[in-house]
Amino acid sequence: MKISISILGSGFSSLAASCYLAKMGHQVTIFEKNETVGGRARQFKKDGFTFDIGPTWYWMPDVFERFFSDFGKSPSDYYQLEKLAPAYSVYFGKHDKITIEDSIEKICEAFENEESGSSVPLKKFIDKAKENYDIAIKDLVYKPGVSPLELITPKTITKLGAFVSTIKRDVRREFKNNRLAQILEFPVLFLGAKPSKTPSFYSFMNYADFGLGTFHPKGGMYEVIKGIRALAEELGVTIKTAEPVESIEVNDKTVQAIITSKGRYACDIVLSGADYHHTETLLDTKHRQYSEAYWSKRTFAPSSLLFYVGFDKKLDHVEHHTLFFDVNFDKHAEAIYDSPAWPEEPLFYASFPSKTDRVAPEGKEAGIFLIPLAPGLEDTAELRESYFEKIMNRFEDLTDQDIKSHVMFKESYCVNDFVNDYNSYKGNAYGMANTLFQTAFLRPKIRSKKVKNLYFTGQLTVPGPGVPPSWISGKLASDLIMKDLIAQKKVADQQLSYQ
Ligand SMILES: Cc1cc2nc3c(=O)[nH]c(=O)nc-3n(C[C@H](O)[C@H](O)[C@H](O)COP(=O)(O)OP(=O)(O)OC[C@H]3O[C@@H](n4cnc5c(N)ncnc54)[C@H](O)[C@@H]3O)c2cc1C
Repeated sequence: MKISISILGSGFSSLAASCYLAKMGHQVTIFEKNETVGGRARQFKKDGFTFDIGPTWYWMPDVFERFFSDFGKSPSDYYQLEKLAPAYSVYFGKHDKITIEDSIEKICEAFENEESGSSVPLKKFIDKAKENYDIAIKDLVYKPGVSPLELITPKTITKLGAFVSTIKRDVRREFKNNRLAQILEFPVLFLGAKPSKTPSFYSFMNYADFGLGTFHPKGGMYEVIKGIRALAEELGVTIKTAEPVESIEVNDKTVQAIITSKGRYACDIVLSGADYHHTETLLDTKHRQYSEAYWSKRTFAPSSLLFYVGFDKKLDHVEHHTLFFDVNFDKHAEAIYDSPAWPEEPLFYASFPSKTDRVAPEGKEAGIFLIPLAPGLEDTAELRESYFEKIMNRFEDLTDQDIKSHVMFKESYCVNDFVNDYNSYKGNAYGMANTLFQTAFLRPKIRSKKVKNLYFTGQLTVPGPGVPPSWISGKLASDLIMKDLIAQKKVADQQLSYQ
């Protein structure tokens, strides 16, 4: 019998899950609130410029390959990837930057140039990071977070210490040079918490960075969304955009239907890839698993202030990805995690995809600027403008060029937009952080504990924030649904045989 499955949202996790569920022969419909698919990975186009609104770093290509191979496909059937060389550069002061190239040998050279002898601990650190990566990919991240026992394998047992120590402690023990330490602490920022709160095991992100490298899909990350959407539609998934789900109808602890802005749809299973907290507000209070107090005590990944800027000239002294770590990292982190406030002197990230790709008109540059912020901050036009001024001034000074008079247009995106566009809790940009107590089975559950046929996927559940984890989350949710359907069928068959 065909099972009808309604999916909320069309981010990476929902699209991935829809592919697996359609492949199993179910009737799958995605309901997306916004006019276009992609969730946080949507696209913005203006005057011949193309910008990714959300993710810009394509890491862990093996996860994408594994996904497509589950359908007898490969990423190259849908989009073209380029390995970036250099991967990125990091500014620490005027004319003072370290460039991270595209191989571990070249990165070792950069470390040696900065501090003689530092390539020796670096190689050891990356070897360990690779061990963690192999264990994470083989033994951990593809587990549904149902039970703590999932984490216990002969390999993971040897890594218990890596859950007690933190990235910061490990890095600072080996690297006294603050600049090198900051570069090694950067990758775990993708997991949404401070390096001092992120277990050492997550050094596997350093292997993703230095060992596997940074890639760019031609045309931008949105090409990946287009690819997975095309696959979903080939498999028979129906996608309805501009149709928000307004409530989830439950009777006898079982979902009966979803109510959208356009009508009522009866369904057998609901899977939500919309933000977890928001999805629970679509249920009667008695069917919610987590209280407001629960959510308010979680460590959320930062929100962000973003600018998408069209420049009327090519910019100098910057790479496709450029980080600006020229101010005090700890102070900015305090303003995100400890005493939420707009940071006095923000670190920021800038991306110029038109350095390597034709996403801007000839002779012009597309720039994306991102300042991480605490979720839930006041967000006004004046604050946005003052931070634009702040980072443009720093940018001009550090890279020694005039850019303010070359801005053709700019669009901003901040806390209020995350709330309005994605129903994001406090306007978080990328979900809930991967701290020790928010890892694996300690994260919000894929399977509702209160409503039988209701499931969750996405960056708030397992394995966590980021594009690759969101894809994995889609697979985990669909696997769990399949497992439950098989178990229900067995029970039904047994009942029949007793009659
Ligand atoms: C600015 C930014 C930069 C990032 N950079 C990177 C990066 O470089 N690399 C990386 O790997 N990751 C990055 N991330 C993280 C990554 O983008 C996310 O982890 C991932 O895209 C989340 O996918 P998702 O499927 O969990 O959720 P989402 O993409 O948020 O999808 C949820 C969807 O649900 C929809 N929805 C909400 N409510 C409803 C409703 N009631 N009815 C119907 N639909 C609803 C939303 O509109 C949305 O489309 C970044 C994120 C942001 C915001």
